[in-house]
Amino acid sequence: MIRRMAEDRKEEVRRATDVVALVQRYLPLRRSGRSWSACCPFHQERTPSFHVWPETQRWKCFSCSRSGDAFAFLMEKEGVEFPEALRMLAREAGISLDPPDPAAAAAAKAKDAAYGAAAFACRWFQGNLKGSPGAAYLKSRGLTGETALEWRLGYAPPGWDGLLQAARGEGIPEAALEAAGLVVPRRGGDGFYDRFRDRVIFPIADTTGRVVGFGARALGDEQPKYLNSPDSAVFQKGRLLFGLDRAREEASKARTLCVMEGYMDVIMSHQHGVRTAVAGLGTAFTQEHAALMRRFADRIVLVYDADAAGKNAADRALGVLLEADLDARVAVLPEGKDPCDLLVLRGPGPLLESLAAAREVFEHLLAGTAARHDL
Ligand SMILES: [Zn+2]
Repeated sequence: MIRRMAEDRKEEVRRATDVVALVQRYLPLRRSGRSWSACCPFHQERTPSFHVWPETQRWKCFSCSRSGDAFAFLMEKEGVEFPEALRMLAREAGISLDPPDPAAAAAAKAKDAAYGAAAFACRWFQGNLKGSPGAAYLKSRGLTGETALEWRLGYAPPGWDGLLQAARGEGIPEAALEAAGLVVPRRGGDGFYDRFRDRVIFPIADTTGRVVGFGARALGDEQPKYLNSPDSAVFQKGRLLFGLDRAREEASKARTLCVMEGYMDVIMSHQHGVRTAVAGLGTAFTQEHAALMRRFADRIVLVYDADAAGKNAADRALGVLLEADLDARVAVLPEGKDPCDLLVLRGPGPLLESLAAAREVFEHLLAGTAARHDL
């Protein structure tokens, strides 16, 4: 019953949408016979092989073979999942998708409030960066002010309720802060305290750039060194990649993503023009990660530190990528350097060389075997 209603809505939105008009907003379509054509937005080309047919309301690229309907185009172009594509087109067509079920409506409302709290916290952390120990740390690692701004980096001051107080002033409910993982209930059950204190803040966004969580690096000896938002309705580590919102456009063109270990590695790579870099969120790679990457890339280059921990992490990730039938490669960096340090010390040259020389999995495994047996 519910499924049939969802199908009806989908059809209603499809009927109300003109795929030619939709595509035209992104590409300069030219009439060519019964179709409209342009250079394909999903691979690099000089002569147009991307066509849209008004009659069938479908599109296809004869070069890279991608094809689909209005929903599929939006999913590819905006990097969103089907439900979000449906919402976007429904909104434009003036069709309401509001769930009739009150429990689902309440959950959707709570989720919206959590997104709002995360957006507020992001701005607040950002506003605290200037002149802070966090800014000093970022500068010491070689980050420019422009980069910090682009990545919306921030600082969570010491103290237990800075964010709580600021949010209260803005009328943001504590429940929304808690749902976004920003505050922790006090042990006595009496109120909350700030989760992130005296840490550099790395906002983590979904593919559309909406902030859904945070990575926070300690400045002193506090453990853990990196503290991430806990999983919640709006933040699932198994489905997110740090930096993908900024890397996806370049990745779609190059059909390649470079997966690194740390947030600083990713940010520094982008600062040096390597704009296909992303990172996991400190958890093991999942099939959902692989599916997410496949939307933007066919080739995945794992960039890991040359140490044993780095190699183990690469081997584990490889298993997942191979299972997903992705072209997985391993780039080995010069001994003892992470991408961030390497970039600061020697510019993008050595990293680009390592990426270009990335080994296919078979060679990588063979090299590992050879090292173990001292061949
Ligand atoms: Zn194409």
